Amino acid sequence: MKTVGIIGAGAAGLCALRHALTASPNIVPVIWEQSKVVGGTWVYTDNIDKDDHGLPVHSSMYKSLRTNLPKEVMSFPDFPFPAEGDSFIPHAAMLRYLQDYSQNFDLERHIKFEHVVLEVVPSKPGASDTEWIVTVRDLTSDKLTTTLCHALLICNGHYSVPYIPSIDGIENFCGSTMHSHSYREASPYSDQTVAVLGASASGLDISVELCSVAKKVYLCHNLPIPFPAALPSNLEQKAGIVGVKQGTSNTLVLKDGSELEVDALLYCTGYYYTFPFLADSCGVTVEDQQVWPLYRHLIHCDYPTLAFVGIPTKILPFPLFDIQVRYVIACLLGLVRLPSCSDMRSATEQDVKKRAAWGHPSRYYHKMVSDDLLWGYFYDLQDDLRCAKKTALKEGTPWPLTASTDDDVVRLKGIWEIVYLRLVFQVLSFRN
Ligand code: FAD
Repeated sequence: MKTVGIIGAGAAGLCALRHALTASPNIVPVIWEQSKVVGGTWVYTDNIDKDDHGLPVHSSMYKSLRTNLPKEVMSFPDFPFPAEGDSFIPHAAMLRYLQDYSQNFDLERHIKFEHVVLEVVPSKPGASDTEWIVTVRDLTSDKLTTTLCHALLICNGHYSVPYIPSIDGIENFCGSTMHSHSYREASPYSDQTVAVLGASASGLDISVELCSVAKKVYLCHNLPIPFPAALPSNLEQKAGIVGVKQGTSNTLVLKDGSELEVDALLYCTGYYYTFPFLADSCGVTVEDQQVWPLYRHLIHCDYPTLAFVGIPTKILPFPLFDIQVRYVIACLLGLVRLPSCSDMRSATEQDVKKRAAWGHPSRYYHKMVSDDLLWGYFYDLQDDLRCAKKTALKEGTPWPLTASTDDDVVRLKGIWEIVYLRLVFQVLSFRN
C-alpha cells in the first residue's frame, strides 16, 4: 500500500484525488484542504482579509468575473461541461462544475477539510527513495498530526500571494493602493482617476470594468505596443509605473518619463509561487518565478515522489492538471519510467538554456508562451502515457488510468483551434 498525500482541494487537488482513487487498490490517497469546501480559487468571498481560522483569504475572484477561456477547453477530459449556454461562464458556474465533478466521482468524503498542511519534511533527506513526513493542523481542534506519505502531490494553487513590484518612493503615495487579489468590485472607485498596473488577463478585464464608474482609467504596462483592442473612451494606455514624483503625493512617474496624477493605484501584477510548508531539506527554491528543480515543470529532479501540479502558466489549466496527474500516477505505479535523477536534472537545465537562447526572460520559465510550447508539453506527457499503455496491454496488464484515451490531446487541440478561430472571427466582425 502506498499512501499518496495531496495538498489542496481546488481543481488540481480534486483531479489528483479522482485519479488516485481509481488507479490502483495499492494507492491510498490522503487529501488535506485548509478551507471548508472544494473549489479553491473559484470560491468567491467578499472578505479580503483573513478567513474564519485567521488564515489569509485564498481566493482572488472578483464579483463580475467570467472565465477568460471558453468552457469547451476548460473541462476535465472525463467530465465535459453541459453543451448549452454561454462559453464564457461566471465564476459561480465554474465552482458549480467543480462541485459536480466532486460529487460525480464521490470525492468529498475523502477530503480532510479544515486541515492545513504546516510542514513537509523528507524522511531520508538526500535519498531519492525518501518518503514524506507531513504535519497537519486540524483547524477545528488545533490538533497536530503527522502522516508518512510514499508520495506527495502539491496542489496548493499559485494565484493567492500577491506580487507587488517595487516603485521608487511608493511610501509617499497618498492615494489608495490595492492588489487585484483583494479587488472585488468597481464601486469604491466611483468618479476616481485610477492607474491600473499590469495588462495581463486581470489588468485588462478590471480596467474595462472600472471604466463604467471611474472618471478616468490609465492602463499602465510595459508591453512594447498598446493593445490593439477596442477599449472604452475613458481608458488610456500608458507606460509602466517606475516611481512617485518627489515632493508630491499623487503623481506617478512612468517608464517613458511622463507623469500621471491619480487617486488610486491598482496592482494587477500577478502572484508568487509559494510553498510555505516545504522544509529547506525538500530542496525546492523559487527565484524569479522559477520553481526549481522540476523535471517537466512537475516532478522534483532529486525526489521523484514529490510532484507539483499546475505550475505552468498560459495553459489550459484543467486539461493540464488532468494529464499531469495521470502522468505522475503512472510514474508512481511504475508504468512510466522516469529518467535517472541526474538525467532529469540535465534535461531541466537544457530546457532552461533553450529558453534563454530564445531570449525568454528567466521569470517566464514556466510560461507556455507559444502554441508550440503548450502543445509540445501536452504531447510529451501524452506520448509517454501512450507508450506505457501499449507496453502494459502487450504484457497483459490492464491499463488502470481509466480516463486516459489516446486521443485526449488531439481532441483538445482540435476544440481549441475551432474555438480560437471563432473568437478571431467574433473580434473581426465586432470591429467591422
Ligand atoms: P486553487 O484553486 O488555488 O486551489 C488550491 C487549494 O489549496 C485551495 O483550496 C487552498 O485552500 C488549498 N491550500 C493551499 N495551501 C494549503 C495548505 N497549506 N494546506 C491545505 N490546503 C491548502 N483558469 C482558467 O482556466 N480559466 C479562467 O478563466 C481563469 N480565470 C481566473 C481568474 C482569476 C481571478 C484567478 C485568480 C485565476 C483564474 N484561473 C483561470 C486560474 C485558476 O487558478 C485555475 O483554473 C485553477 O482553478 C487553479 O486550481 P488549483 O487547484 O491549482 O489552485
